[in-house]
Amino acid sequence: MTDLFSNFSMTIDGRSVASAATLDIINPANEEVVAKAPDCSREQLDQAVAAARKAFPAWRATPLDERRRLVAKIGEVLAQHAEDFARLFTLEQGRPLRGARLEVDFAAFWCGAVAKLEIPVEVNEDSELRRSETRHIPLGVVAGIVPWNFPVNLAVWKIAPALLTGNTMVLKPSPFTPLTMLKLGELMQDHLPAGVFNVVSGGDQLGPWLSSHPGIDKISFTGSTPTGKRVMQTAAENLKPVTLELGGNDAAIVLPDVELDKVADKLFGASFANSGQLCVAIKRMYVHEDVYDKVADAMVTRARASKVGDGLEQGSNFGPIQNRPQFEKVKDLIRDARENGLKFLVGGDVPEGGKGFFVPLAIVDNPPEDSRVVQEEAFGPVLPLIKFSDIDEVIERANASEYGLGGSVWSADTDKAIEIASRLETGTIWVNETQYIMPWTPFAGHKLSGFGVENGREGLLEFTSPQTITVAK
Ligand code: NAD
Repeated sequence: MTDLFSNFSMTIDGRSVASAATLDIINPANEEVVAKAPDCSREQLDQAVAAARKAFPAWRATPLDERRRLVAKIGEVLAQHAEDFARLFTLEQGRPLRGARLEVDFAAFWCGAVAKLEIPVEVNEDSELRRSETRHIPLGVVAGIVPWNFPVNLAVWKIAPALLTGNTMVLKPSPFTPLTMLKLGELMQDHLPAGVFNVVSGGDQLGPWLSSHPGIDKISFTGSTPTGKRVMQTAAENLKPVTLELGGNDAAIVLPDVELDKVADKLFGASFANSGQLCVAIKRMYVHEDVYDKVADAMVTRARASKVGDGLEQGSNFGPIQNRPQFEKVKDLIRDARENGLKFLVGGDVPEGGKGFFVPLAIVDNPPEDSRVVQEEAFGPVLPLIKFSDIDEVIERANASEYGLGGSVWSADTDKAIEIASRLETGTIWVNETQYIMPWTPFAGHKLSGFGVENGREGLLEFTSPQTITVAK
């Protein structure tokens, strides 16, 4: 029986591998060391890539139904150990147990759903003279690089489609949150052929080593926009295909006819879930002046009733910021807002001196459009509430961002909301909800939010190359 709470090792070529050096993994709720994770050496990374290359021919030749079974098995393993995975998740990531468990359960469901997706074959021509069809064949070894905010889901978004389509993988979790994926690697050693799924952990040097490695055929990256740019530059050397899921600054547009009693909880949850550390969190809430005070009241009431605390403590609704550098960034944004005389409806003070990276939920009252708190991705629980009066002008403001990840429109008049939504320059737009992302919905950042697609048919095909076969009759 694998112990999920100690002896963290990498999975390379189907075996558990330790390393000479280790990384301290810090619990963001108390800054204590939760565990030591391997710090992969360059030679060990070479071994992982070599193992994935060696495993590729047999894996791509494995019947699709068997690959389906094994991708579904990843979900079963997650489900079987869900309680321990959730606890481990909270210890390293900080999110309260309930939310941690939801992520593990969702990842388990995700594997099962991806396992059922069809890999299409398109018939281009079927005439008297010839038949031409296009298949989608695997690329080889995929490097999966993921961040710390959703360490299980965002990894599974890569593992499941990459393996289903016949690729092998080297997965690199964030140095802040490697533990759950290291354990998944260990648990899957009993099920997957050696080398198909390798998991390596390490410090800041490991990402660049992996993305520039000549043995990698595709990089599927989720993280910040500056890192995404570096990954794309590195990938250009060998013309490696890349998928980049990057940052965002999602706007929500709340119209005067919003049915607040129905959607207030959703608006609040979408702004502060995971303490705002969500790529598609509502990061700018534009509220029509007629309902501004009502919406502000609803948000402030909910913020005041919420407890920010250790995710393992009963009653904590929101956990800490996941790591020290992000904590400092969020505090700096709050400091900047204060120094510029912006008013906080709630929050805005970060207690100094205690242990843990806690930021009380903060709502900024109608800051100017050019303030940092509106322009930058906070990636923390700091929400600007912004008043508007003219719909054309607010659409322009929403679109003025360099990001284009998601956005939402909130109104009782669905047709009007859809019309406004279709003028937003983002990859995903929701009406009267947000953050509904499923294995069958393509998710693509526009502008500096990304390049390529994850999920859905398009996302699946990003792990393949088209191969057209034309046969003369
Ligand atoms: P990050 O860019 O710092 O790190 C992401 C991953 O890249 C980590 O595993 C890191 O070790 C690795 N890395 C760092 N430098 C690298 C390099 N030069 N080459 C290759 N890999 C490298 O991001 P983060 O702080 O972990 O995550 C937060 C960011 O991720 C936010 O901007 C957020 O919006 C974004 N994000 C986007 C999505 C999405 O789907 N669009 C989802 C979640 C998070």
